[in-house]
Amino acid sequence: MYKNIVFHWTGGNYAPCSLDFNAYHFLVDKEGNVSSGKYTPEDNLNCGDGKYARHCGGGNTGRIGIAICCMKDKNTPPLQKQVEAMCKQAARLCYLYNINPNQCITHAEFGLAYPNTSSKGKQDINILPYANKYGEKTCGDYLRNKTQVYYDRIKRGYYG
Ligand SMILES: [Zn+2]
Repeated sequence: MYKNIVFHWTGGNYAPCSLDFNAYHFLVDKEGNVSSGKYTPEDNLNCGDGKYARHCGGGNTGRIGIAICCMKDKNTPPLQKQVEAMCKQAARLCYLYNINPNQCITHAEFGLAYPNTSSKGKQDINILPYANKYGEKTCGDYLRNKTQVYYDRIKRGYYG
């Protein structure tokens, strides 16, 4: 049973590095291309065997991690193309795994909700400069709303 999907940024360049593939289930590069990580979402249903994507400290079980590759520094902010691709991928996963798009959260929101975990103080995703969105809740709502739009399109039979 999946709890939700967690939105991240990698804190790296616009392309995934080798460590990123271990940490996240899906990675989105500069052009919006989505790559699969080493572990599948199913691997995070039971983390007891130690083989799972460690994307969300204190909350990896039942959570799928998608990361946009960005935010190494101020010159590598999240790009619109990446965010759209991330939310589209999240919508596909919500549809596939029966997750409510409204349950998707950012890593930063998870850290705020669970301050006794190593996710406390995580920044991703609290700024989306291209969209003029700032703050945990504002960015989280923006990403959830976008995921919902893609989800509704999928439900209507539009998979593009
Ligand atoms: Zn994160």
